[in-house]
Amino acid sequence: MRPPTPSVTMTINSIALQKKQAGEKIFNFSAGDPNVITHPSISQKAIEKINQGHCPYPPLEGIPELKKLFLSWFNKKNNSSYKDENILITAGGKFALFAYLLSELSPNDDVLIPTPYWVSYPEMVLMANGNPIPIPTSPNNNWKLTKDLLKQYTTKNSKVLILNNASNPTGTLYSKQELQEIVSTALCLNLKILSDEVYSGLVYDNQPFTSVATPELNENITIVESCSKHFAMTGWRVGFLLGSKEIVKKICNIQGQSTTGTSLISQWAAVGALENGDAVNAYVRAAMQKRRDLFISLFNSLFNTTIPNIPSSIYAFLPISSMGFTKHNDSKKFCEEILKIGNVALVPGTAFGQEGYVRFAFSDEEEKITEGLHALKSAIQRINEQ
Ligand code: PLP
Repeated sequence: MRPPTPSVTMTINSIALQKKQAGEKIFNFSAGDPNVITHPSISQKAIEKINQGHCPYPPLEGIPELKKLFLSWFNKKNNSSYKDENILITAGGKFALFAYLLSELSPNDDVLIPTPYWVSYPEMVLMANGNPIPIPTSPNNNWKLTKDLLKQYTTKNSKVLILNNASNPTGTLYSKQELQEIVSTALCLNLKILSDEVYSGLVYDNQPFTSVATPELNENITIVESCSKHFAMTGWRVGFLLGSKEIVKKICNIQGQSTTGTSLISQWAAVGALENGDAVNAYVRAAMQKRRDLFISLFNSLFNTTIPNIPSSIYAFLPISSMGFTKHNDSKKFCEEILKIGNVALVPGTAFGQEGYVRFAFSDEEEKITEGLHALKSAIQRINEQ
């Protein structure tokens, strides 16, 4: 295994936390954590199970109650027919992605990754001894992968395409037609598709979300889902992998020799969420949509600009120039200066493979978004005047 480099989002977040522990007020836009009070359906179920007084090892593949509930929720939304043998419960969506790459890649297989990408994809591919191959996309096309780009970057070494719809860091959302075109092109090119759909529950303005799930299972498509963002359960660490029986079996074996499955109490907490799935998700989504609206309108008025609407996720991926910053275009340097001078934590675009941009998470409380954007504006003014 190639040793991973630390996640930049986690690094910025920990510098921000250190400053906070030292008594400084931090405006933290770096962590992608839907910060709402845990829905009582989740906490009550967990407490009920804790009070039963026994917490043995969990079944490796996940508890049947959770598998059944998630499958019925997922299949209904996506008109799919995944069965018990096609689902695995994992310690967060992140472990499902990592274990898939570990199981499917042979040394030097290429993995195609549209850019800007979630920070962990290339590192996971490297840890699994594969080669991450970024496919650059353009803001002029809402950062979308197209079939032409896919054809252009696919070679005989390409094995897997990682798709992330809805996207971190850009909030890009693919239409049904766009997605179908990409999926059919990828399958024709003999690629396996790893579709990260952990933000599928955070799509705004009543727009539909399209999954790559098909009515009949396709062996070359694997989907990763999670309770983290849907139900604001990031700390509980419950994710799902949906795919062929063989892949589920292989990854279950990886769990058997590594995590021993997912915390039993967390799985019961997820049962609590899914027993009331639409309502718990609507509670989180409504809060995030309100925060997105506040973020966009305040950003536009403070920086006298008009940023495009963000259809999904909890992130704004914005050029440094949109904030009236005139000194340079180095996103890492910008984030360091802003954290030092204004105590505002942002993530540099280079962490996502895109220089000149920074990522904001708008998932924290409204008061913090407001204070943070004002602090950012005054920090930028101070730096510009230096
Ligand atoms: N995929 C994307 C695009 C993410 O942004 C994250 C977390 O931020 C994950 C997967 C992993 O989520 P979790 O492991 O909390 O389910």
